Amino acid sequence: MKVIIIGAGASGLMAALNIPNDYEVILLEKNTPAKKLLQTGAGRCNYWNEEINTTKYNTQRKLELEKIISRKNQQAVLTEFAKLGIVPKIKNGYYYPSSESSQTVKQAFLSKLEDKVTILENFPVTDIKVTKDKFIVSSNDKSLTCDKLIMATGSNASLKEEDNFAYNFLKKTKHAITPLLPALVSLIIKDKTLLSLKGLRIDATLSLIEDNKLIKKETGQLQLTAYGLSGICTFNLSSLVARGLYNGKKEIIKINFLDFLKTDNYLDYFNKRNELMAKPKAITLFETLINYKLVNALFSKEKISPEAKWEDLTSKQKKSLLTSLSAYEVQVFSTNSLKDAQTVSGGVSLNDINVETCESLLVKNLYITGELLDVDGLCGGFNLAFAFITGYLAGRALKDD
Ligand SMILES: Cc1cc2nc3c(=O)[nH]c(=O)nc-3n(C[C@H](O)[C@H](O)[C@H](O)COP(=O)(O)OP(=O)(O)OC[C@H]3O[C@@H](n4cnc5c(N)ncnc54)[C@H](O)[C@@H]3O)c2cc1C
Repeated sequence: MKVIIIGAGASGLMAALNIPNDYEVILLEKNTPAKKLLQTGAGRCNYWNEEINTTKYNTQRKLELEKIISRKNQQAVLTEFAKLGIVPKIKNGYYYPSSESSQTVKQAFLSKLEDKVTILENFPVTDIKVTKDKFIVSSNDKSLTCDKLIMATGSNASLKEEDNFAYNFLKKTKHAITPLLPALVSLIIKDKTLLSLKGLRIDATLSLIEDNKLIKKETGQLQLTAYGLSGICTFNLSSLVARGLYNGKKEIIKINFLDFLKTDNYLDYFNKRNELMAKPKAITLFETLINYKLVNALFSKEKISPEAKWEDLTSKQKKSLLTSLSAYEVQVFSTNSLKDAQTVSGGVSLNDINVETCESLLVKNLYITGELLDVDGLCGGFNLAFAFITGYLAGRALKDD
């Protein structure tokens, strides 16, 4: 029996590792193996997280996802990492290889696969024919035949040139594909005050409000750029924003720069702070607490003199300033493009695969793994973890045949 895997990325490599030895395995890669994997975690490969559960992912099919990322499957994949010799360094639940180099992960896979798998690099698959019990996989003038086919081609996220071959083939074979949108990506705004603060990094809590309804909150470091909002907390909302915008919803991000104070009554807090600090200039109450550039920009936006004392401000001015600092509302008009994104939201519906094996329910002996599927995770190793788990399931599935 012969199996072809298309794509030597995270899920393709994990699938290859788990295919029983009685199969002939050919791994086809249009570039070189693990190219995207090498870029992950800023070259350190954040490959896993200790809190893998459905709340960390976006998908139209949470129940199916829950089965795929079950404890049992997580344990099995962690065992595979141990067998590869990868020792985790865990920081805030994020797993990195102990070397903190993604090269370690690539080498660990390639050395294990050396004797087991034929890897054909620079082999862009451009056509697949499905016959009664075989697949004919072609690249330009070369064709290969196999009994089982694993599609592990990932997505177009972060690529300079889009390649829709896999999606087109899957559509042609009647798989449902939810719209493909950028995820883990920056958000584009028009707010002049925030845009004037480009380069600023500041801790904040972001609330995503969609058509006046609170959808999700994220706390972390907000990065302000020349075009909008970035940073991990922004990225973690971006998939929902992209989908909301796609569906014609109004997307507002409400920013709380004062959340760390852990109070609901900011007026009371700053009245007391004013007394405690012996009534300095109002601006000093804030500049000594959070970034001065932000404070200055907000004083200027609210047209409050930097010389004014707290008690000189009218109640309306105090309220307005505190609202700007704790509930700054900014409308998002779009996300950055897919080529600037770390992953894609959308893909082949989990409804179209067997969640125990990742085998297509529409084309027998075809397996679909990783980012091709309609699952996108938050920052923190969730996307690689999903790719590794689905690759593992597809590889292992061949054991029972
Ligand atoms: C900059 C960046 C940083 C990231 N950091 C993290 C992180 O730290 N942690 C995390 O969990 N996730 C991270 N991700 C996301 C993560 O890399 C992906 O979710 C994951 O690699 C998906 O695995 P995959 O196997 O589905 O696809 P990929 O790893 O993308 O592999 C797909 C492979 O298929 C090949 N291929 C595609 N089409 C064809 C074809 N027609 N013929 C032959 N070969 C083909 C591609 O060249 C590629 O090698 C990051 C992504 C980016 C862009």
